[in-house]
Amino acid sequence: MTQNQPTNTDITLSAEEYKALTDRIENLERIYRQDTDILNMLLQMSNIYTETGKIRSKKTVFSSLRNYLDQIIDFELMAFFSVNENDSSFYLADCSQENEEKHISQLSDVLIENGEFAWALNQDRAVIVDHSDKQRLVLLHVLSTKNRVRGMFLGVVSKSNIPSTKNLNLLSVLLEHAAYSLESIELYTMIHQYNDELENNNARLEHLVEERTHRLREAVDSAEQANKAKSLFLSNMSHEFRTPLNAIMGFTQLLITDSVDPPSPAQAESLDFIFKGSQHLLTLINQVLDLAKIEAGQISLALEPVAINSLIEDCIAMVQILAVEKDVSITVSNKVFKFVHADYVRLKQVLINLLSNAIKYNKPNGTLTIDCVQDESTIKVNVIDTGIGIPLDNQQNVFTSFSRLGQENSGIEGTGVGLALSKALIEAMEGSMGFTSIAGEGSVFWFKLPKVQATESEHS
Ligand code: ADP
Repeated sequence: MTQNQPTNTDITLSAEEYKALTDRIENLERIYRQDTDILNMLLQMSNIYTETGKIRSKKTVFSSLRNYLDQIIDFELMAFFSVNENDSSFYLADCSQENEEKHISQLSDVLIENGEFAWALNQDRAVIVDHSDKQRLVLLHVLSTKNRVRGMFLGVVSKSNIPSTKNLNLLSVLLEHAAYSLESIELYTMIHQYNDELENNNARLEHLVEERTHRLREAVDSAEQANKAKSLFLSNMSHEFRTPLNAIMGFTQLLITDSVDPPSPAQAESLDFIFKGSQHLLTLINQVLDLAKIEAGQISLALEPVAINSLIEDCIAMVQILAVEKDVSITVSNKVFKFVHADYVRLKQVLINLLSNAIKYNKPNGTLTIDCVQDESTIKVNVIDTGIGIPLDNQQNVFTSFSRLGQENSGIEGTGVGLALSKALIEAMEGSMGFTSIAGEGSVFWFKLPKVQATESEHS
């Protein structure tokens, strides 16, 4: 009996039986070790996947993959090719030995030429071909995911070290996982690039918006300054003009009414011409001054409850002579005995302007109707005429100062500033102004102002 024979006296084995049994046990142990190896490998493989999921460089994926592959197959040389996104060609991305890069390139050129590289691309397993030196073998395995080919693995093994089918299967699984890792790195890089681009674009846009806002602010500032300077200039100049103009008008009137040394009829006509001209100029200057004041926010208004009906009557009285001269009859169609919030003098100025326009631009035998409409909070005054009306293509300039809309040579006196000023005044009193007009038929100019409520007017 040998030393290793069992001591249990109940079992007696012959030498052959004992040998068969130990062989069997050794075999089982080997299978067990192989399975443990496989399990370890699978564990490492999943490590690669999770690790490379974190790793953001292809180089690190390749080098850790080489480490794992080294453990299952005795490669003399390993290399990875990646796909060039622009022309779908393959380039050497990683090589286990730096000085072997030239050898690998030459080798891959031969494999490409022989069609073996292309053949391996279409297989989902390792392809083993002869090395060009005929001494060794070359193992090719595509690196691909379900979506696309990510690269190619190339390994050189000695002919005496042909890998087992099991190890080749493991290699396939490892390379497939590596392909997914490479794909996720590429996606990650792409997202990062997009993100960077997006951030850059956002920053550029913000910068652009800031720059434009700055330039706009500058433009607004300088426009405001220019406007203030213009208003100041106008108000100064208007004062300068008004003083001598008043003197001219005063002395002209004195000469006209001089009973001691009365002017000849020709002189009286000239003096009348001077007086009317000066009057026109004074109106213009006053209107321009008012406009400049409103634009500069310097107009001072004395807002108080104004009885609209008596204001209308006051204004009619003031334009009556002109209406008679022009053969226009005036009626008030709808009276309202209520108050509006307004500056009495300024509102009178506005209404006189509207009434005199309705007379000036009327036809002989024409009519001027004043119609008041009220609602809960406002009173609207319509000034309706049966005059020449305003052609449609002139209507957008009605409230533009100095625009006379073709009446410059009509012989009808005017400055072209009255309506612009009236609208600005009404708006300064928190009201609104508008018009409708039909050429050849007449116009309706209106303004609307806040109504003073009954309780307020009682107190006034
Ligand atoms: P103007 O001093 O010339 O009357 P306005 O500013 O009051 O200046 O009016 C501007 C222009 O609008 C007038 O020159 C005239 O062409 C036109 N217009 C104003 N009111 C009427 C109206 N009731 N009917 C027709 N045209 C009018």
